[in-house]
Amino acid sequence: MSDALLGRTAIRAKQIGPGEAFASAVAAGQLVQIVDLGGKQVAEFVAFAGTDASEWLSTGQTRAANNSIVLQRAMTLWSNRQRAMFELVTDTVGRHDMLVSGCSAKPGKPGGTVAASGPCRDALTAALGDEGVGGEGLPDPINWFMNVALVQRGAFEVREPLSERNDQVVLRALTDTVVAVAACPTGKAAPATAKAKATPGAPASGNILVRVYR
Ligand SMILES: [Zn+2]
Repeated sequence: MSDALLGRTAIRAKQIGPGEAFASAVAAGQLVQIVDLGGKQVAEFVAFAGTDASEWLSTGQTRAANNSIVLQRAMTLWSNRQRAMFELVTDTVGRHDMLVSGCSAKPGKPGGTVAASGPCRDALTAALGDEGVGGEGLPDPINWFMNVALVQRGAFEVREPLSERNDQVVLRALTDTVVAVAACPTGKAAPATAKAKATPGAPASGNILVRVYR
């Protein structure tokens, strides 16, 4: 258990399987815990300032404010309006991604009108709708547990996540927010999921547990 959670009480909890998402309002001072139950599973994460769909957790602002492309414990996560939204208070893995735009990204051709869609994007949009935040302008997610390695000349490779069973991150909300988390079902984001599923007794492979604590 994370020290940050000592003395706290879980007020919401949801286990999501691959392709599912969960959204919740989180008040300033509350904590969001995201647990990779089986290991090697990516969780896509977006957040908005309250129910204002025009202010969101920005991977670009977070990279710039921290002078880093790698999230580390104690870092602050920022909105597109440079509001401090979260502090990363617990991180048992140390490797996450904020470069890749999620499994959902299907870039259209220049000048084209192809809308981005995909399992995580659709699931996040639906979950946010339940919380009263429109998902039309869904921002690029933070990909918890996604392992992206930089190779030469700025190219990057998506590799197997380093997360093991029950690895987790905990975020402290610094402002009132609505968060949404999706368990990523596809592609290189979770190459070990199928393998893990074949292992007898492997717990909850591919599942992500989200808890909100007050
Ligand atoms: Zn995904």
